[in-house]
Amino acid sequence: MAKRAKKRANKRKTATRRARQAPKLLSDLFLETLKDIYFAENKILKTLPKMAKAAHSKDLVAAFNKHLRETQGQVRRLEQIFKMLGKPARGKPCEAINGITDEGAEIMKDFKNAPALDAGLLAAAQAVEHYEISRYGTLRTWAEELGMPDAARLLQETLDEEEATDHTLTELATSVINLEAEEEYRAAA
Ligand code: FE
Ligand code: FE
Ligand code: FE
Repeated sequence: MAKRAKKRANKRKTATRRARQAPKLLSDLFLETLKDIYFAENKILKTLPKMAKAAHSKDLVAAFNKHLRETQGQVRRLEQIFKMLGKPARGKPCEAINGITDEGAEIMKDFKNAPALDAGLLAAAQAVEHYEISRYGTLRTWAEELGMPDAARLLQETLDEEEATDHTLTELATSVINLEAEEEYRAAA
């Protein structure tokens, strides 16, 4: 085959290969990220009861239990969005949430019965909320851009709950828990 003909044939081959490989669009990214947060929420459903059980402060236990109930609703919202997309609700392992919850488990172990345990649990919970806030903010914006106002509204509802939880935890941290840890320490010294 002449050099030029060969070149043309190669060019054709690349073109068909490109056509066969569907381009990855924003809608694909949206679905992948939905799977990521669906995995994360299900992981959080398993983690929150452990944190509530470990916490000493009544207010912190109440905050964890309240957010556990909210999280159940958040999982249902995500399932509604999968349905809108005509896709099965399926999670995709999220190493970020695995890492954040591993850190929380480490604190529960290392600070067991310690005065600073609640402060550590609180900080771990806030790391979780901040991951979720980042994901839901992104997903809400993408849903708007993709012309899915109903999905955007559901994602905003969850985002509001995550932000409210983050604020509650900040208030608990600054008002009681961190100070209690110090006082208990001083009293024991
Ligand atoms: Fe959540
Ligand atoms: Fe992730
Ligand atoms: Fe949350």
